[in-house]
Amino acid sequence: MTQHMDRTNQTTWQNWSGLQRSNPAQFVQPTDVTQLSQTIRQAQKCRVVGAGHSFSPLVCTDDTLISLDSLTGLVRHDEQLNQATLQAGTRLKNLGPILDPIDQALLNQGDIDEQSVAGAVSTGTHGTGTSLTCLSGFVQGFQLVTANGEVLECNATQNSTIFEAGRVSLGSFGVLSQITMQNRPRYRLKEHIQLTPLKDILSHMDQWKTEHRHIESMVFVHAQDAILKTLDPTDEGIQTLPAPWPSDDTLLTIFSEIARKTPYLNPYVQKLLGAFIKPTTRVDWSSAVFPSVRETRFNEMEYQIPAERGLECLTEVVDALRKHKAPVFFPLEYRYVKADDIWLSPFYQQDCASISVHQYHKQDCREIFKIVEPIFWKYGGRPHWGKMHTLTANKLKTLYPRWYDFLALRQELDPQQKWINPHLESLFFA
Ligand SMILES: Cc1cc2nc3c(=O)[nH]c(=O)nc-3n(C[C@H](O)[C@H](O)[C@H](O)COP(=O)(O)OP(=O)(O)OC[C@H]3O[C@@H](n4cnc5c(N)ncnc54)[C@H](O)[C@@H]3O)c2cc1C
Repeated sequence: MTQHMDRTNQTTWQNWSGLQRSNPAQFVQPTDVTQLSQTIRQAQKCRVVGAGHSFSPLVCTDDTLISLDSLTGLVRHDEQLNQATLQAGTRLKNLGPILDPIDQALLNQGDIDEQSVAGAVSTGTHGTGTSLTCLSGFVQGFQLVTANGEVLECNATQNSTIFEAGRVSLGSFGVLSQITMQNRPRYRLKEHIQLTPLKDILSHMDQWKTEHRHIESMVFVHAQDAILKTLDPTDEGIQTLPAPWPSDDTLLTIFSEIARKTPYLNPYVQKLLGAFIKPTTRVDWSSAVFPSVRETRFNEMEYQIPAERGLECLTEVVDALRKHKAPVFFPLEYRYVKADDIWLSPFYQQDCASISVHQYHKQDCREIFKIVEPIFWKYGGRPHWGKMHTLTANKLKTLYPRWYDFLALRQELDPQQKWINPHLESLFFA
């Protein structure tokens, strides 16, 4: 469920949701940085893929597609600083076994851990927590292979401008081959999940978000209750839960199918799902608690809204979807992310509330995205680069104060536009 390279026909690639597809002329999986650099030098045009878990067509190419699946693992670590340098193709799900023995763990993670470190960093992938930036904000340095095959070390003192901007650069600066992450000593998290009336979430979230290291809500648009999830560091021992039967993911597939085939039942099905959600508490290591299993395919739009207006925007999104009787079963996801200083980070100098809208992969996502996207724009939202949106350069340049600095630096690094595919063309130049 990660890389969707069709092995019977090596020229077909598709992303996790199946919506994005392309036919690269060649697929290359270098085993060291010399091979990587040679591949890049010889290619006219290329893109690099991580786990293919972006919903937007960032990775699509008809030319050379590079995967770092053979460049994985720990390069070195610094015990005092709690930093680890990783091969950029390492998947987040493999970090537990890599970081546990050196007593380190990521400071935060998102919903799943299938992504590669480089893919997650390059799009500003995030979890939730008002005191925590996106993963790109934890990057202390990286090794970059540029369009002419040169290998650059970039950090706060070497190639510092490239470092500043390159932490969220959508694979448009070159290929990140190693990444140094700021981590922390291994820690356990206590997770609490319960169903809560949406009106309580809307009126108390501003307080609750200050009381928990991580807080998020999954909002069922056509029901009155939402799922509230909190995570907090704890010294308590491990407390696991028996695996639920049927699993949350199986329920999601079954209910998504019912709601798709009989849309008028959607509100009842959303209420019925609530009956399956009992309050639960568990304690485990952070790398086991953060990720969920996501096997029911969907497509997703997500915008980052100035944090102080997040709940107002969420209310408007829910109201609009209800008013349009939008055929959406998947819950909205509401999270918080701290500001950073990365030029094209959606969180650049802005604490944000993150609102995601998901649509089951067998339903047309554009129908509901059309309803919500103008609302996100009204609140000055910036799109998640790895998720679906319709913005192009004209509008994007108004959202990012360092937009032209980014483009100028990118041009210097890639004068032949080697990394530009049609999607990046529309983002940067349309
Ligand atoms: C089920 C699911 C759940 C998700 N949950 C979250 C979540 O909780 N929070 C969140 O923020 N996002 C989430 N996402 C989105 C996902 O984290 C991002 O889209 C992420 O970029 C995917 O990582 P990837 O390794 O699959 O990268 P890809 O999608 O393969 O690539 C993403 C970008 O990174 C670039 N890239 C990849 N490798 C390199 C490299 N070595 N050097 C330079 N550039 C590179 C690619 O060119 C592309 O531009 C989720 C996605 C899915 C499918």
